[in-house]
Amino acid sequence: PTTIVDELGIALANFADAATGTFTPTLRLGVTGLSRAGKTIFITALVHNLLTGGRLPGFAPLTEGRFIGARLAEYPDATIPRFAYEQHLAALTGKPSAWPESTRRISQLRLVLKYQSNRWLSGMTGPATLNLDIVDYPGEWLLDLPLLSLSYAEWSREALERASRPASASEAKPFLDILGGVDPAKDANDLDAEALAGAFTQYLRSSREDGRALSTLPPGRFLLPGDLEGSPVLTFAPLPPQDHTMRSSSLHAMLAHRYEAYKDKVVRPFFRDHFARLDRQVVLVDALRALNAGPAAVADLETALTSVLACFRQGESNPIAKLISRRIDRILFAATKADHLHHTSHDRLETILNRLLANAARRAKFAGAETKSLAIAAVRATREGTIEERGETLSTIVGTPVEGQELDGTVYDGRTEIALFPGDLPDDPESVFEAGKPLAFSFLRFTPPRDLERNASGDPVLPHIRFDRAIDYLIGDWLK
Ligand code: GDP
Repeated sequence: PTTIVDELGIALANFADAATGTFTPTLRLGVTGLSRAGKTIFITALVHNLLTGGRLPGFAPLTEGRFIGARLAEYPDATIPRFAYEQHLAALTGKPSAWPESTRRISQLRLVLKYQSNRWLSGMTGPATLNLDIVDYPGEWLLDLPLLSLSYAEWSREALERASRPASASEAKPFLDILGGVDPAKDANDLDAEALAGAFTQYLRSSREDGRALSTLPPGRFLLPGDLEGSPVLTFAPLPPQDHTMRSSSLHAMLAHRYEAYKDKVVRPFFRDHFARLDRQVVLVDALRALNAGPAAVADLETALTSVLACFRQGESNPIAKLISRRIDRILFAATKADHLHHTSHDRLETILNRLLANAARRAKFAGAETKSLAIAAVRATREGTIEERGETLSTIVGTPVEGQELDGTVYDGRTEIALFPGDLPDDPESVFEAGKPLAFSFLRFTPPRDLERNASGDPVLPHIRFDRAIDYLIGDWLK
């Protein structure tokens, strides 16, 4: 039985908890990037490294011995899907290991971090806690920002102008054919709306395929619909501008109405409820994919980065400025999958990303947050080696290509390890922006690492490249 003194002690402790509980700071970290940039892998590795105290020499709170530990906690908003950390980790560390399913919609996860502060007098107050809320969302959704300032007629004009460019001819043709056969003045009907929206969506998707890697075409939900697949707000397409007012019962009026609904019911709520509440952001960029597809894709990536930066721009010129309640003070741009290159090229990859970012920042008249570029691999799937070829020593990467891929006539079975000379990134970053041939890279997807090392508690240790620096930049200063 407890004594009155115990009771008093417990009550006081609860009171103190409740009092300090309200003061537990929360850092809301957004993780974004275009489809397959590496969001799922980044978050899975981030959570795993924090939960198990991974090998992170560049993460100061850990090396200074002040990071005590982390645990998963219930997310305060029960209506948002939870990031499926356990399933993703199980895939990554399974036998055989496999890459987990990629991000399709928004999801969140809360970690509670415990640490010893190194501030003055903090030794007297004991360990401190920080809630780290991780918000995973498709970068495609950010590309919708410009729509907020465009009417249906303006957006249609832009979208159709782009679809009619010679460079888009093959992808856009089926859509333009259907469009040519439809009279916008006819009575509104769902069949025409669906046919147009279907063909338009197909055009946007094929613009994203590997050979092209064009990455900048809104509406973002057409590429990644989340839970809205097939709903009327996503069933519209651009129509040629009309010189006279359309009857309210026309197909044109119907699609214009849906476009406005898309802005009001989909785009604005996303920015208001999720984006506007972030404190920090990491933008993952698959720069290697663009480099591999050639200068047009690199230019396109720069345009995508410009649109992304426009979302983070502070001040009245941003159509969501009024919605923003918190200020993002740091944005990390990370070129992912650096393990596809030998380490001699990692700095070059960072330089290229930096150049892209500087151009994008200039174009977006970006002002506000501090930014940084890093080349990382959140999960490293390759080792390094060398081969001798015609008296020359070439730096290679060693890994197991994912089953079914083909390179130079060899089809891989998903079990055989190979040494690959991926090619070097050019010394002079300018050269990747010049029109001409794509760089001759050999890129293969590798299976996730196998036979992982275990730490003292028996947890697998995920190998990485410069991931510790990314984590330190994103959360290190909050753990001071
Ligand atoms: P998301 O669409 O942004 O969630 O992309 P994912 O995180 O699912 O990554 C897409 C694919 O990129 C994965 O299936 C992997 O093949 C590859 N990938 C992502 N991160 C890494 C990494 O750190 N190293 C390697 N080698 N591949 C990666």
